[in-house]
Amino acid sequence: MVRARDIRKSFGNVEVLKGISLDINAGEVACLLGPSGSGKSTFLRCINHLEKIDGGQLWVQGERIGYRRSGNKLHELKEHETAKQRAHVGMVFQQFNLFPHRTALENVIEGPTVVQRIPKEQAIEEGRQLLARVGLADKANHYPGQLSGGQQQRVAIARSLALKPSVMLFDEPTSALDPELVGEVLDVMRSLADSGMTMIVVTHEMGFAKEVGNVVHFMADGQLVESGDPHQVLEDPREPRTQAFLSKVL
Ligand code: ATP
Ligand code: MG
Repeated sequence: MVRARDIRKSFGNVEVLKGISLDINAGEVACLLGPSGSGKSTFLRCINHLEKIDGGQLWVQGERIGYRRSGNKLHELKEHETAKQRAHVGMVFQQFNLFPHRTALENVIEGPTVVQRIPKEQAIEEGRQLLARVGLADKANHYPGQLSGGQQQRVAIARSLALKPSVMLFDEPTSALDPELVGEVLDVMRSLADSGMTMIVVTHEMGFAKEVGNVVHFMADGQLVESGDPHQVLEDPREPRTQAFLSKVL
């Protein structure tokens, strides 16, 4: 579903991704772990084409990110042509990034009506179903400021799902939440995983990684250090850098 080969990305003369290669299969929940600054967010942003890679190749569902095919030729997409490709890749951030002056439902239908030009009535119908799916059927007309952090993050998840992505990226989705609100967001993510969604989750929630993750990838210093079964990587890591990281966070 997601295939990354030798992904390289620099900011100025600092190389932040030093050749990341990994595969994420359809329906898999891959958890991405690593110290601050190791390049986790940058890697997710590359998959979503929020950052342009300097080297390597990325595919989502067989489609090369940043390119379109015509005949047997690949053409690089111009910046304004990337929105459609990006819509296949949902992304949820640490800060929920909702539009403050739009209601929960208006936030959810924004993408479908503006980007995908779906008729408004249909978008509203689907938006209500999505809000119900994240447990917020009764909050459709609330503004973000009237919702708790956990509720706002669930609206953000519904908003991403509204574009019917084939893969969902989560960048520390519970890190900004008060501890008592973390569970409700993880529950929504767990049910999304159970529905078969392909997910890449940057998280420090080791319990979630073990219970819901199919695989853990540990990154350090722009490189993929170790990948494997969550219990193996988290309880019995092979690599010294993974061991050092886990001994600090657990
Ligand atoms: P954290 O756990 O703190 O979120 P991370 O693993 O997500 O860290 P990134 O945010 O991907 O790490 O950052 C990797 C490195 O790239 C850092 O050194 C960061 O300062 C640098 N970096 C990220 N974005 C930019 C940018 N737009 N311009 C310059 N440097 C950047
Ligand atoms: Mg980050």
